Amino acid sequence: MTTNMKMYTESDIRRFYTKVAVAGPSDCWEWLGRCDAAWYGHFQFNGKPIGAHRFAWWFSTGIWPGDLSVLHRCDNKACCNPAHLFLGTQKDNIQDAVRKALRRCEGLERAMTCN
Ligand SMILES: [Zn+2]
Repeated sequence: MTTNMKMYTESDIRRFYTKVAVAGPSDCWEWLGRCDAAWYGHFQFNGKPIGAHRFAWWFSTGIWPGDLSVLHRCDNKACCNPAHLFLGTQKDNIQDAVRKALRRCEGLERAMTCN
């Protein structure tokens, strides 16, 4: 696979983990570094900030996400646990957000009708 990105090194990964609160394998691993306005973590790589979760996905799978989005199963934008990440398109991202919002509404409805 070709990529225009400079390859990460061991020291990039070590630097990355100094900014992540690594927890259990199924827990969220919170990004402790800088975040953007939308709460996505920023990791400084090759002189530029890239999404911390994108970097986590990249070095844990060996696949550079390119134009695709790295999405969170856990809905926690600051999470960098590779087990919580999956690759999708921007469309998937929106559909995923809609599905989660619907699920939240259904849960709310159930909670209200039960009372
Ligand atoms: Zn998570």
